Amino acid sequence: MDVKPKKNLGQHFLTDLNIAKRIADSIDYQAGEGEKPVCLEIGPGTGVLTQFLLQRKELDLNVIEIDRESVEYLCANFPTLYNENRIIGGDFLQANLNELLPKGFPIICGNFPYNISSQIFFKILDHKDEVSQVVCMLQREVAVRIANKPGTKEYGILSVFLQAYYDIEYLFGVDSSKFNPPPKVQSAVIRLKRNGMKVLPCDEALFRRIVKESFGMRRKMLRNSLGKYLNGSAAQERFLTLRPEQLSVDDFVELTNSIS
Ligand code: SAH
Repeated sequence: MDVKPKKNLGQHFLTDLNIAKRIADSIDYQAGEGEKPVCLEIGPGTGVLTQFLLQRKELDLNVIEIDRESVEYLCANFPTLYNENRIIGGDFLQANLNELLPKGFPIICGNFPYNISSQIFFKILDHKDEVSQVVCMLQREVAVRIANKPGTKEYGILSVFLQAYYDIEYLFGVDSSKFNPPPKVQSAVIRLKRNGMKVLPCDEALFRRIVKESFGMRRKMLRNSLGKYLNGSAAQERFLTLRPEQLSVDDFVELTNSIS
């Protein structure tokens, strides 16, 4: 039985086993005494990466896959996962993860469907207190954007939100020739590790609004894009002529506090 790659599901199956192993080996999680942490793989497809994740015996691997044909393939070829009900057929974006994985899911791994990678990260942020590490492959531009520091043109909303709660490393690039079918874009693998930030030292809802609205007009100086929030105080002065991509997480926190 073969699974025919479906474009609308972002299916590009990895063909290079060395790379698959390298991704699985990039999970760097210190399990607590007696802990067998759940690792949730998003979009296992035909299990190229899954087979190497299974070799990491210290992890309790669970997979979630939307494509029924791939789910059937996985059930037939990964009896351990199938027998232990660790194959979830469904949409990661819609899934109630706390119900499906009541023991939590500290690790997320996968060769993500590139068309929904931003939505995947927003969902991970909703679960940031459970997810302590993410190792994933995604479109290289998006990987760079997420990992980049302020001051670069790739730096954006997701960079700020993710960098607020995760330390992010760009691990390695993967050429499009390593997939079937090859995607039109280049790929890269990144690792995110939860930092110590429990809650930002500011009004978090306002922080999110400020970040979104300023990047909504990313070429404008903040005095224009955020005009309605500003009150002319001295604390805001240094921000007025900056553009959002020049602000670090700490800067956005300071700006938020100067507004609220
Ligand atoms: N891990 C495999 C496949 C990567 S392609 C490999 O490396 O070869 C991306 C996979 O994500 C596909 O199998 C696709 O069916 C699956 N997928 C796409 N959207 C999804 C969603 N919303 N939830 C779960 N899986 C999804």
